[in-house]
Amino acid sequence: MTDALSTGPRSGPAVVREAARDTPVYGEFDVVVIGGGPAGLMAAAAAARSGRSTLLVERYGFLGGAGTMGGLSTFCGLHAKVHGEHRQVIHGLADELLARLAKLDGLSEPHLTINDGILAQAFDISAYKVAADELVVSSGARLLFHAMAVGVVMADESTIDAVLIESKSGRAAVRGRVFVDASGDADVAAWAGVPFEKAPPGQWLLYPSLMFRINGVDAAAAGPAPWRTVERLMDEAEAAGTHTFPRKKPIVRPQRNPLEWRANLTQLRNPDGSPVDGTDVDQLTHGELQGRQQVVDAFTFIRDRTPGFENSYIVDIAPQIGIRETRRIVGEYRLSEDDVLDCADFPDTIGVNGWPVEAHVEGTVEFRWQRGEDPRGINQLPYRIVLPQQVDNLFVAGRCASMTHGGQSSARVTGPCFAMGEAVGTAADLALAGGLALRDVPVAELQRRLEGNGAYLGRDLR
Ligand SMILES: Cc1cc2nc3c(=O)[nH]c(=O)nc-3n(C[C@H](O)[C@H](O)[C@H](O)COP(=O)(O)OP(=O)(O)OC[C@H]3O[C@@H](n4cnc5c(N)ncnc54)[C@H](O)[C@@H]3O)c2cc1C
Repeated sequence: MTDALSTGPRSGPAVVREAARDTPVYGEFDVVVIGGGPAGLMAAAAAARSGRSTLLVERYGFLGGAGTMGGLSTFCGLHAKVHGEHRQVIHGLADELLARLAKLDGLSEPHLTINDGILAQAFDISAYKVAADELVVSSGARLLFHAMAVGVVMADESTIDAVLIESKSGRAAVRGRVFVDASGDADVAAWAGVPFEKAPPGQWLLYPSLMFRINGVDAAAAGPAPWRTVERLMDEAEAAGTHTFPRKKPIVRPQRNPLEWRANLTQLRNPDGSPVDGTDVDQLTHGELQGRQQVVDAFTFIRDRTPGFENSYIVDIAPQIGIRETRRIVGEYRLSEDDVLDCADFPDTIGVNGWPVEAHVEGTVEFRWQRGEDPRGINQLPYRIVLPQQVDNLFVAGRCASMTHGGQSSARVTGPCFAMGEAVGTAADLALAGGLALRDVPVAELQRRLEGNGAYLGRDLR
């Protein structure tokens, strides 16, 4: 056997040197969006609607981000509890997406969740994929699926010239004037040298989960509010010492057709107890394996103990483990947990967030609600959280925007990510039209444009 074919550990340097090469340019666009999750798909649709040539690069073959690849099937953060009244607070392009989902028969009525404190809205994952395709394609944006961004080429230290992508067609460069990092992991920002943070000192990242769905549930036999039964049975089994579950506060709830249920109850950790880090490929691999084992264990418990689940089966395990937090950029302003809990206002608001802090910590989920007797229930999202330091032609939107660990534990959910995406797509057009650096976009004009397109910035509430 030649050395090249031997399988044992090798001695020698820990790097290989690749030959320098010329990389073909796939295309040049006004706006290049990396990542087709809630932030990226809205950014691409908004930029393209403004008349900008726009490319959306997504590593999977469908849009939706964690909502589809992570199997969530629930929109959180579209609604808030505003002075005691449940209201939808994310509008604009989100309204259009919801209308498309409804037309596909893929949207449930909003339901109360987290001790009936706030509304969330379940959706059908396949319908979300189709509705997101329709929204982005009809806006005029170009899609490039099955392409993973793997690096950047800088024109100078503050300007990205191109994003490098890898796909079945090989390696290519995509040139842009404005880039939007909506990768969830701040991949592009990190490659471009933008300051970022992962877990803050002394704390861990939010724990990931692998989602799954159950089918074949006998809704009549399950009785009223059967999701409370699952949680009670799990708590009782733990108290009796017959079972230990990776996480308390399971979310196991029916979809629109109560034959089908979604299950959010796993928690993925490394052998040392730390959360699986979604930017480490070995930990991701470990997380997938551990996640599927947890799914089987949890499902077996539910099927065997819960009325109505006797003939149920796992119909789907999400395409990948769901990552809640990795890199967050340290941008011009960092949205904090206090901002969320004190319902902060910002003069440069580009949208709102009404979700409580939902911290996936070791073994459980902690919820912290907006403070006060009768809280307004929303904080505004300042434009500065999507502006990175150091790089002038890059926005960072979605769960990797500039937020502290506590702030991100709230504003990472879908609703505020939709709002951030629409705002950066619109701001990209304003910057390009005025020949401006992104941080110099006239915020008043951006706000007028967003509100004119139906977005809600929370400026009517004090
Ligand atoms: C297990 C779990 C349960 C959750 N439950 C809910 C819930 O019930 N409701 C809710 O509203 N929110 C929930 N969230 C939070 C929410 O879904 C996410 O935080 C939200 O999707 C973030 O949106 P995003 O656009 O920032 O990033 P993501 O949704 O993570 O999307 C990022 C996109 O970028 C793509 N991408 C990443 N890197 C690259 C690259 N290098 N090149 C090309 N493409 C790339 C990904 O494939 C993905 O499509 C949950 C999250 C998890 C993990």
